[in-house]
Amino acid sequence: MRILCGLFEVFRAGGLIQLYRNDRAIAAYLGLAIGDALGATVEFMTPREIAAQYGVHDTLRGGGWLRLKPGQVTDDTTMSLALGCSILAQRKVDALSAAHAFDAWMRGKPVDIGNTVRRNLLQFRKTGNPEAPYSDHDAGNGAAMRVLPIALATLGQPEETVRAASRAQAHVTHNSTLSDAACECLVFMVQDALLGADKNHLLHQYAHPLVAQHPEFKFRAVRQSSNPSGYVVDTIQAVFQSFFDTDDFRGCLIDVVNRGGDADTTGAIAGMLAGAAYGLKGIPAGWLTTLNNDTRHACKTQAKALFELGLTLQ
Ligand SMILES: [Mg+2]
Repeated sequence: MRILCGLFEVFRAGGLIQLYRNDRAIAAYLGLAIGDALGATVEFMTPREIAAQYGVHDTLRGGGWLRLKPGQVTDDTTMSLALGCSILAQRKVDALSAAHAFDAWMRGKPVDIGNTVRRNLLQFRKTGNPEAPYSDHDAGNGAAMRVLPIALATLGQPEETVRAASRAQAHVTHNSTLSDAACECLVFMVQDALLGADKNHLLHQYAHPLVAQHPEFKFRAVRQSSNPSGYVVDTIQAVFQSFFDTDDFRGCLIDVVNRGGDADTTGAIAGMLAGAAYGLKGIPAGWLTTLNNDTRHACKTQAKALFELGLTLQ
């Protein structure tokens, strides 16, 4: 069973506990952005290329194929923020509103955009339908990278409500069974971590059942996932290996981004999980101060607002 709804009700009145969760909600959002900024430098590189250029890449140094400034983020963070704005404006998760928010984001000429996201948002412009057609080929990580606002806004709600909200946002661009499974697993993991669950719980409650239901996601006793592609299975394998095999925020992020490949997205998702699991105190000060000021502010503000919205929607 999820830790949850009951426990949430019991604890909900406790201000200190809310503060604790609020801290983890903010840490999850900052973790997402920091992982994105850290990973973007080495996106599309192999571990060997990263080692040759940086030794161990552990600094928010910018650069990479997008020629970013130090602490600058990419679509993983900016699409999450766009989704969060839509949820806050509507005071609920609404697919059409999310689709308009993503479309406005695309019109703003973001620094990068995934192929599946672009194709299905262009389709949305033509049809007005915020649900992309089902396709097993659309199992990229573009929906999984932006699940955090869903996790925050639906915290404590019934499981089916959470799943429906996750699918509503995901299907705007990625309508695939494997993407859905990954998104929902991540949402539940973040939610339980916000409530104080330890990693062992997350492993047995969510990661193993995901693999049992979809063996593609197997991440134990498989080759270490180096150079992970944008395929959501590759992404989750790399993220889970790094998250479960390290003991702190910094170690988790360094481990995952130095695998290269789609490192901004593996970094973003791992950073979200690690932020939720370890809280603000786990985030290295140097990374936090180098993160772009506007981004840091937006992540903090939105994390608090979505968390509070989630409380009012109980
Ligand atoms: Mg990106």
